[in-house]
Amino acid sequence: MANKYDVIIIGGGISGCAVAWKLAHYNLKILLVEKEADVATGTTKANTAIIHAGYNADPDKLKGRLNVKGNEQIKEISKKLNVPFREIGSLVVGLQNDNLKVIDQLYAKGKENKVKNMKIVDRKWLRENEPNISPKAVKALWAPTAGIITPWEFALAMAQNAVANGAEVKLETAVLDIITDSDQVKGVKTNQGDFYADYVVNAAGLYADEIAQLVGIEKIKITPRKGEYYIYDQAKDFAVNHVIFPVPTPISKGIVVTPTVENNLLIGPTSEKVASKQDLATTRSGLLEVISGAKKLYPDLDLKDTIRVFAGLRAADETEDFVIEAAPHLKGFINVAGIQSPGLSSATAIADFTVEIMEAQGLKLSEKKEVIETRPEPVRFYEMTNQARASLISKNKDYGQIICRCETVSYQEIIDAIHGPVGARTVNAVKRRTRAGAGRCQGGFCGPRVVEIIAHELGIDPTEVKQEEANSNILEYKIKELLGKKVIENA
Ligand SMILES: Cc1cc2nc3c(=O)[nH]c(=O)nc-3n(C[C@H](O)[C@H](O)[C@H](O)COP(=O)(O)OP(=O)(O)OC[C@H]3O[C@@H](n4cnc5c(N)ncnc54)[C@H](O)[C@@H]3O)c2cc1C
Repeated sequence: MANKYDVIIIGGGISGCAVAWKLAHYNLKILLVEKEADVATGTTKANTAIIHAGYNADPDKLKGRLNVKGNEQIKEISKKLNVPFREIGSLVVGLQNDNLKVIDQLYAKGKENKVKNMKIVDRKWLRENEPNISPKAVKALWAPTAGIITPWEFALAMAQNAVANGAEVKLETAVLDIITDSDQVKGVKTNQGDFYADYVVNAAGLYADEIAQLVGIEKIKITPRKGEYYIYDQAKDFAVNHVIFPVPTPISKGIVVTPTVENNLLIGPTSEKVASKQDLATTRSGLLEVISGAKKLYPDLDLKDTIRVFAGLRAADETEDFVIEAAPHLKGFINVAGIQSPGLSSATAIADFTVEIMEAQGLKLSEKKEVIETRPEPVRFYEMTNQARASLISKNKDYGQIICRCETVSYQEIIDAIHGPVGARTVNAVKRRTRAGAGRCQGGFCGPRVVEIIAHELGIDPTEVKQEEANSNILEYKIKELLGKKVIENA
């Protein structure tokens, strides 16, 4: 049966993509369904992008165990998948009058969690290694194994590699119900029809509680917790060499100051419970909290050269831990819920743990004889030397046509993004794959060209091109049609 699979995964965030990637190593027929037009459009696209070292969560929590394992795996996996990961290390910086005992407690917790190479560093070390840090900084926990990654590229790379190994990814496919037969899961009902499998993984992020409720599980209760951010232009001349945390509070790691992989400076997030799972609005009070928090660590930091504000929503379960378990009453239904921070850092370990649960439920795992372990490196024109660019253009002149001038993104890179595995269908999907629109002008110049290219390549009308989710169409009319309409109306 064409629509029969071994495993169906609901949700194409980092958790669902990691599970699909892992399962695609075995002789299994895998389907990942995602309600939006791209992977990584949920929490996975808006977070601090840190691969945490693993000293925050208690060792008896899943978060504590899986973070450290995920961190240990990241170097090898990111290399194989050609996802840039920078192991720049993190510092929890104590200022005068902070409760400095917390730093020693984090160090002790890190030791229990088996985080490697941590050190407590003093004022002198901080001055030498973080020249812009507040003069009030007296002591810090240094965890050199922490790093930064581009979260959506990590998720996309795993989805693409899963596809290369035979998995299917169906976008714009929303699960509406779960098909069961007495105590066995049998598949999912979606807006694109029914798909069958004896194993269904619920990795629906903020909506994982609602998916669980479809099979009568009431114990998962997701409360969205918003985090707001500022991002700076790459041109901002302000050195921050590590991921810098303040001393944390019981519910938040506090306002972080960190570089991104692409050399933007990022500050945030806040931590505020909100009522709606769609409330991604930034607020005046939230953004004031972000800049004042960042200035405690870096008093000379100002808002000059910020290019965008954004917010992400943590999918926090009441237990404040990951909820990764098989449904007790429904064989084959596995929840991967409550994946708040450090979900990104733990993703590959979450996948291992989920697959172990499925195996214990009877899923047969036989490794494929020939697994494709690597993902071909996408062309990153903006990173290339002029010589390398010239060589590329001599083979394909479309690499010489620059569409996004801020980030030096070429026409051919956009074409590659649209026609590659798990291809881009929206403007934001092109941005995530190429950085077109991610620069100083935020798509002001290249946006219309990107719409035109997507429409042409997908054979759709420009008015059908979306920014991201359903109903986010960018153009309402073609100007000539609008003028024609006005002429008719005025006649
Ligand atoms: C402010 C903030 C900062 C963070 N910082 C960090 C950090 O620095 N490091 C770190 O390790 N972690 C961090 N995290 C946590 C990390 O971002 C998350 O743990 C991770 O992204 C969760 O991924 P996910 O796949 O579980 O969920 P999501 O990314 O939300 O994916 C769930 C997917 O399911 C889809 N879906 C939902 N319902 C359906 C349906 N009915 N049918 C089909 N598809 C459906 C959604 O569209 C979505 O794409 C942070 C989170 C936030 C909000």
